[in-house]
Amino acid sequence: MEIGVLGLQGAVSEHERLLTACGATTRRVTTANDFEGLDGIVIPGGESTAIRKLLVRENMLVPLRELIAKGLPTFGTCAGMVLLAQPESLAGIHADVARNGFGRQRDSFETDLTVPGWNTPFPGVFIRVPYLKSVSGPTETLITLSDGRIVAAREKNVLTTAFHPELTGDTRFHQYFLDEFVRTPVKQTH
Ligand code: GLN
Repeated sequence: MEIGVLGLQGAVSEHERLLTACGATTRRVTTANDFEGLDGIVIPGGESTAIRKLLVRENMLVPLRELIAKGLPTFGTCAGMVLLAQPESLAGIHADVARNGFGRQRDSFETDLTVPGWNTPFPGVFIRVPYLKSVSGPTETLITLSDGRIVAAREKNVLTTAFHPELTGDTRFHQYFLDEFVRTPVKQTH
């Protein structure tokens, strides 16, 4: 099982470390040729405007958007969530995203997250993160904070978190992606 980590900018090696800990082989993706034959891809946190510009410059934006639309298992964190929610970027989920949605005074914090079906809370690391104001169509909410902000969601082959599982030692989100999205690909209806 080979998982690409988009390696243009951001927290790339952190995702590689956790995917490797889960038993996956990783490939750092920096050109459109690197998409060939991947079983899944991770879009890391970083700076979504910078990542988007680099995707355009490297002629990777349209091919990646098409691969995601065709069902490539995709996991985006933080800036990755922003790019997946923007129709003009990767268009992987149907959601209204608020970039840097937690404002200045709380732009970095940690909080325990309750994940439905998981026995113990997940350590949520939030660094200038976005959130989803709402989701629509086939997008499902996975985690909503007590104030109503949506911080994890999924749609078909796409998983997104506003927080940074890659900055914790907790492999459960990466394992969940590998088990539920990569090993058991979601059937496409179109
Ligand atoms: N606020 C950043 C953006 O919108 C994302 C921050 C992050 O990935 N840590 O690009």
